[in-house]
Amino acid sequence: MDALVQERISASFDGNTPGPSLSALCRNLLEEQKASWPDLSLGYEALGSVRVRELHCNGFSVRLHHNPGRIKSTAAPVDQKSIDKRPCFLCLENLPEPQRGILYREDFIVLCNPFPICPDHYTIAHINHVPQSFEGTVSTFLKMAKDFSPDFNVFYNGPESGASAPDHLHFQATARGILPIEKEIEDRTRLAFVKDVHAIPLFRAKNVGREVIIMEGTDCTAIGNALTSIVTAMKSVLSSPAEPQMNLLGSYEGNIWRIVIFPRQKHRPSVYFLPSNERILISPGLVEMGGIIITPIGKDFDIVNEELIRKIYTEVSVDEETIQKILEALSL
Ligand SMILES: [Zn+2]
Repeated sequence: MDALVQERISASFDGNTPGPSLSALCRNLLEEQKASWPDLSLGYEALGSVRVRELHCNGFSVRLHHNPGRIKSTAAPVDQKSIDKRPCFLCLENLPEPQRGILYREDFIVLCNPFPICPDHYTIAHINHVPQSFEGTVSTFLKMAKDFSPDFNVFYNGPESGASAPDHLHFQATARGILPIEKEIEDRTRLAFVKDVHAIPLFRAKNVGREVIIMEGTDCTAIGNALTSIVTAMKSVLSSPAEPQMNLLGSYEGNIWRIVIFPRQKHRPSVYFLPSNERILISPGLVEMGGIIITPIGKDFDIVNEELIRKIYTEVSVDEETIQKILEALSL
């Protein structure tokens, strides 16, 4: 094993060797790191003073979190020029000295996120500096969803849809059940069946203010094919030369994978780009699309209302016409 990897890992999970579950390893890592890495401990302490406000947006709810610790991520410059200039914060050689992780199935390392959004927040970074791209990682994503269950969900932010390190492949894991959308789509009356793709049923969530596609299944290969089919259809309809803009949430329970897809047409809403006195720093990634709206600035937290949330979702999510085209373009 590479010496750089060797010196950073405090445990490993390969899915075969008998031993503690990945959830248990993650929780151990977090406790160890809180004790040995002061900045992480401070990041988690700051969570205690996060202000929370619930907004009912006519059919769905979101929770605003005033979390100042997230400023770096929310305001991260993601243009190529800025990225070329900064050292990559997910590369092993650039991690803070006390940071350690769990080697996950050879190619990834599970790290504690020093700017958590909730009491358990992990980043699963590739051990090499390879670009954020979902192509080629479909089965890895599904394996992760299973390995991190039942305690955690895993998620993916596209390079132009909320990833603060679009140059370094990574996923994230957070506690299951924290996102308002999870509860909303558990109510089956809110799901509209669309069609079967590779024998996997596809649904759209109704009345949630943004487009949400949901797929469920027990067969890993079939669900992987269905997911690939959707990404391909989005790519062709959105005419993306690169990966289509999207956020993905994966969970696994009772032998069933559930994948939630948020197809996007824009990364940051127009209020993000207003002059500084009017600017509202909301930068939607999976967490925001899932219903937790992070506002690192106190003023924003105080003024954001239901109407603005609906407007932001309408702006960054694909529209009705586009979603119809995507669904029609699916290869079955
Ligand atoms: Zn890197």
